Amino acid sequence: TTRSWALVLLTIASQITLGFLIWRILLQPRSAVIHTEVLHSLVHEFQTPIAAIRMAADILDSPIARNQPERSDKYIRIIREESERLQHQVETMLTLARAERNTLILNNEPVSVYQLLSSVAERHADYLQLCLPATNAHFLADRLHLTNVLHNLLDNAVKYSPTEPIITLRAEETAGGLLIAVRDQGVGIPAQFIGQIFQPFFRVHDRNQPSVKGFGLGLSYVHRIVLAHNWTIDVQSELGKGSEFTIRIPQTALLPEVDKSSVSRS
Ligand code: ADP
Repeated sequence: TTRSWALVLLTIASQITLGFLIWRILLQPRSAVIHTEVLHSLVHEFQTPIAAIRMAADILDSPIARNQPERSDKYIRIIREESERLQHQVETMLTLARAERNTLILNNEPVSVYQLLSSVAERHADYLQLCLPATNAHFLADRLHLTNVLHNLLDNAVKYSPTEPIITLRAEETAGGLLIAVRDQGVGIPAQFIGQIFQPFFRVHDRNQPSVKGFGLGLSYVHRIVLAHNWTIDVQSELGKGSEFTIRIPQTALLPEVDKSSVSRS
């Protein structure tokens, strides 16, 4: 099994190198040198999971794990979770690079708002209040990307809530179409930074913001995916009170009643 761990590490290392190179070449074509702070974030974000994977692989390969096979499960779980985290980051970077070059392709399919929000809410069940609209609207969207978008917003809502998170995921039909909103009661975003939070690598450096791990790419991914669908996203925030991110899906994107029969997972 040492060989299979080595293989896991090799695969991950090559993915990282690939992601980094693509990011470097495609997304930053105009800058000669990556900003030191950006490079620092990248290195940090990749180093932490790599260190965890290496440590877990070392333990699995040592007498500790050989003599106590029941402890192996824990280290296998670490390898799996951390490599998933790395993969997620590489995918985010690739998606952003593709969006930057206008080569991002959406796999649109009919999506039911009930089904989408309920499945996303499952992972956040402990602290999430879910508010569904009276009727189950359907619309065309890239289900996978949209699911990632909502997880990103919900993960942020948790990360930037210093105490017990109180979060609402809400969908509502309005005159203009459908809105999906994520509201938290966390630290809020200082007004002067609101205009910048969707930029790649932007992070608020403010003493009121808790020092949480981050990459500064989550919201730019969210923004890119929303724009690629021709929807909009805006944010309302009050310092110390919380933030609300609202995605607006226009009426024209909603599927008429007759098409709903084609929705398989409603
Ligand atoms: P990351 O969370 O990895 O730093 P993001 O792109 O997701 O990157 O967010 C960019 C910045 O916007 C964060 O560093 C944080 O300062 C701010 N931010 C995002 N979501 C929230 C939120 N729900 N509450 C307060 N600040 C937020």
